[in-house]
Amino acid sequence: MSVAALARLRPTRAHVDLDRVVANWRALETFARLPLVAVVKADAYGHGAEAVARALEAAGCGRFAVALPEEGAALRAAGVVGEILVLAGFWPGQVPLLRDARLVPVVSNAETLRAALAAGAELRVHVKVDTGMTRLGFDAGELVPAADALRAAGIEVAGAMTHLASADEDAAPTAIQLDRFDEALAALRAAGHAVPLAHAANSAGLAFLRPTHTLARPGLLLYGVPPRPLAPDVAVRPALRLVTCVAQLRDVAPGAAVSYGGRFVAQRASRIATLPIGYADGVPRANTGRGAFAIGGRRVPVAGTVCMDLTLVDVTDCPDVREGDEVEVMGGAGPSAWELADWAGTNAWQALTAIGSRVPRVHEAGGTAAAVGSRY
Ligand SMILES: *Cc1c(COP(=O)(O)O)cnc(C)c1O
Repeated sequence: MSVAALARLRPTRAHVDLDRVVANWRALETFARLPLVAVVKADAYGHGAEAVARALEAAGCGRFAVALPEEGAALRAAGVVGEILVLAGFWPGQVPLLRDARLVPVVSNAETLRAALAAGAELRVHVKVDTGMTRLGFDAGELVPAADALRAAGIEVAGAMTHLASADEDAAPTAIQLDRFDEALAALRAAGHAVPLAHAANSAGLAFLRPTHTLARPGLLLYGVPPRPLAPDVAVRPALRLVTCVAQLRDVAPGAAVSYGGRFVAQRASRIATLPIGYADGVPRANTGRGAFAIGGRRVPVAGTVCMDLTLVDVTDCPDVREGDEVEVMGGAGPSAWELADWAGTNAWQALTAIGSRVPRVHEAGGTAAAVGSRY
């Protein structure tokens, strides 16, 4: 969609600063002293995967990771030429998708091994070992036989990986996982597998890199949001601002009930602003009666129940607020992804991926809106 066509849509948008994503990527590569696999699954954590991947690729990034084959195929169709790793498994019916889009799947269990073997030599894969996450991955004893079977079928085992369960919370179990990963790499090499690529680090894991690692796979930090409580000491800046505007102002008398269920009752003569953004757009419904957004740099508290399409805020203490004023719901002077998440009892990953598909993504580069991603 063109930037001009945005005028046809309600003024609720996610502004995504692609220059910041690129700057974050550079800062993280410098910190890690390794090439990065840019994790752009779940529509690049709500930022718009195609625009983000194309901007990173233009800046020199050569590797991307998605969760699903269909996410990878969409990136390929959008013109991404770099390597696209598929992290979260695939199903037999998806093998043609992997092949046609030249994706690199992660083989992580008997099912994906069987599907890869059936696909034959046209695939290049990474293998995954479970070192303590207990989710996807071969047990240590299954890894070498799986790699042997792939090699026997003419399938290149280009890399090996594991995933860290607690790098954002606790260094001790992380060290144990990384020791197990080093042992798995040694076993693969002892069995004659070159395994040129090895990677374990997500965003938090960047603080725990080992000499055996050749790549790292940050997601959250790429978008400028540090994991919590543990994060590597690297300066990044948030790339996304979720904004809307004041659609209507209402002056109400003490005792007036506001929104579904009357959960907010005015304690004084109050001014309530209606915002055209709701839980279908990414404001957690759990923010009902909690949290605050920013208008003109000042925080205005959420009043009452967050609705599907609309949210109400109490602007009584900001008498100069006018209909049409911009409201920052996440980012900028508004709450950070973590603040919004804390009010809703969730995490920053979910706050970002919850931004609804009906919210247009305005991609900015060089200080201007360069492109708009919108389903309408
Ligand atoms: C999502 C994901 C990542 C990125 O995690 P962040 O914490 O966002 O950096 C890395 N590796 C795998 C396997 C993932 O699923």
